[in-house]
Amino acid sequence: MTLQQTIADYLQYTGHKGFDIRAALIDCDGVLYDSMKYHTQAWVKLMKKNGIKCTRDEFYAMEGMTGSEIIKTKFKSGAGKNITDDEARALYGVKTRYFKELGEAPVMPGAVRVLQTLKEAGVDRILVTGSQQDALLQRIDEDFPGLFSDVKVTGHDVRHGKPNPEPYLKGMNKAEKKSNQCIVIENAPLGVQAGHASGCFTIGVTTGPIPEKDLYKAGADIVYKNMDELAAALPALLVALSMIKA
Ligand code: CA
Repeated sequence: MTLQQTIADYLQYTGHKGFDIRAALIDCDGVLYDSMKYHTQAWVKLMKKNGIKCTRDEFYAMEGMTGSEIIKTKFKSGAGKNITDDEARALYGVKTRYFKELGEAPVMPGAVRVLQTLKEAGVDRILVTGSQQDALLQRIDEDFPGLFSDVKVTGHDVRHGKPNPEPYLKGMNKAEKKSNQCIVIENAPLGVQAGHASGCFTIGVTTGPIPEKDLYKAGADIVYKNMDELAAALPALLVALSMIKA
């Protein structure tokens, strides 16, 4: 599909007349950091310690849900247990410890270039993540100095994890922008679903094992192989969007 056709499709299903892109709502794990391999490993360890059978692929598929939602879902389906909020919080603490023991996840190649390109184009960069890990959130300021707006949506701000659009709707509200003023950058199917449901033009990046077709199925408007490819394509994409004025 050509870029023009992709844009025309988006305008048709949203009913928008055009764009005025002012903000990018940017996911964290799997977009800014190459951290999903560590997360899935930590989840499997937590489940195995609790006698719950699972594979890492299941946790790639659940990426975007809150930690508490993942724990409740897996303990119910894998052990028939109903987990309380307090228990979920404690178990999430253990998972966080396992995650930290694996070392610092590297910055995703291409992420800095994507952020710089957005900044040069006058597009605000807003973090939208379900993560409640304060250590990771602090790293953002160190690893991407001056590249993020103070406006952020984290796991502390939202009741519902992705695929619920709440995180992206909250990002739009905090940034005081409408859906045709924002792009979403996501790597996971549930995250793409959330971005799509928020009405924003949603960009998928296949930085993990999940194939391109799954991100399109989840509602991605366009999918790039990785953040480097997105960085290379972004200037032309922003120009193409700006040609169709709202
Ligand atoms: Ca992600």
